[in-house]
Amino acid sequence: MLNKKSKENIVKLFSKYCQKCDGRCCKVGMVTFFECEALSVFNKEEGIKSIFIKEKCSFLKNKKCILGAKKPIDCVTFPIYPILESKSIKDNSIKLAIHKSCPYYKEMIQDRKLCMAIENLWKVVFKKETTRNVVNLVGR
Ligand code: SF4
Ligand code: SF4
Repeated sequence: MLNKKSKENIVKLFSKYCQKCDGRCCKVGMVTFFECEALSVFNKEEGIKSIFIKEKCSFLKNKKCILGAKKPIDCVTFPIYPILESKSIKDNSIKLAIHKSCPYYKEMIQDRKLCMAIENLWKVVFKKETTRNVVNLVGR
């Protein structure tokens, strides 16, 4: 669905923060997969799929996500998400918001390289996904 390199680049840009953390975002909350992402991980056509995390995500092994390149965009850009505005998801303008549950959120939101990479990735998603799917994923 998405350019593997741009996802890898974001993971790399996050690494300086995440390597100092206990991976708390993999131990709480929910992970949502777009339909094509879910298909590649679960091999079943189920539409958009959400998993509630109890204690820790089932894909977390030895403190690492075993999904690799199949890691959903929901996790790839966490804790930074686009804000959905009523205008349109398709107008190519994106504003970003950040979850304050991440211990490094203040540094991340000041990190222009990281934010630009995330903005560009979501622009691609907005072009490829239906508005309904994006609202279901981001607006949940
Ligand atoms: S909570 Fe923040 S710093 Fe920790 S692993 Fe998740 S994104 Fe990285
Ligand atoms: S899918 Fe991977 S990155 Fe996402 S919460 Fe689970 S272990 Fe963490």
